[in-house]
Amino acid sequence: MLDTINKNNFWVITDFDRTVTTWESMTAFWAIETAASIPQILKDIQITNLHKYRPIEVNLEMNRDERDQHMRDWHDASMEAFYTHLTQERFEDVLEHAVKGIELRQWMLEFAQKAHESWIPLIVNSAGISSVIERVLDHHDFPRLWVHGNSLKFDSHGRFAWLSNTEAVHIDWKVWWALPQEFVDYFSNKTHILVMWDAVWDVKMWPTDRLVHNVWFLLKSQKAHEARFREIFHHIIESDVCDLWFLQELSKKL
Ligand SMILES: [Mg+2]
Repeated sequence: MLDTINKNNFWVITDFDRTVTTWESMTAFWAIETAASIPQILKDIQITNLHKYRPIEVNLEMNRDERDQHMRDWHDASMEAFYTHLTQERFEDVLEHAVKGIELRQWMLEFAQKAHESWIPLIVNSAGISSVIERVLDHHDFPRLWVHGNSLKFDSHGRFAWLSNTEAVHIDWKVWWALPQEFVDYFSNKTHILVMWDAVWDVKMWPTDRLVHNVWFLLKSQKAHEARFREIFHHIIESDVCDLWFLQELSKKL
């Protein structure tokens, strides 16, 4: 598949947390949980919900519909807490905190810039907070066509006013068919995809009728699932100091 990639047939879809960023990096949600401006009560709610729902999130044996409902409950609980305790002023501090604390992987920025120069569309698909991701990417001049995620909006009084996206993007909803039709149309004639991800749920991020070069930034917590999913990926990357030679190889083709 690598041999037939060119700048006319190629596009990129990637997860953000622990894919574009390092394993040790702050995540988009973690930025809220650690920013100085955020009141302790909101941090406590977020941590309590994390402890409650994270084991469900990583439970691959649970029925998908059942997990989906739990993930929606988790998301709604976060949004309710934001509604009560998050203001635009506080969120601005979160964004500055994220810029300092979120660390991109080596070569990711260079690859995205090379792809952009060659008019290769790149989409970031994340269950995180897209407003945080966009601020971090803009800080680094990291080009992308679009960030699909949860976009926080504030009203004219600076109060949190819910999400701008109609459907909450949680781990079971990072799916190809949830992308707006205008983006799906954009890729209709693109036959080759680079997909980068770190969690097994991300296997639903891409359409199945294209040629996929599949890269798994394997989380330690997902190591037990490696054998089960081995047949669907081309590279497994298990270190932050990894050899990202495939990004350099792809760049040469663009
Ligand atoms: Mg991730």
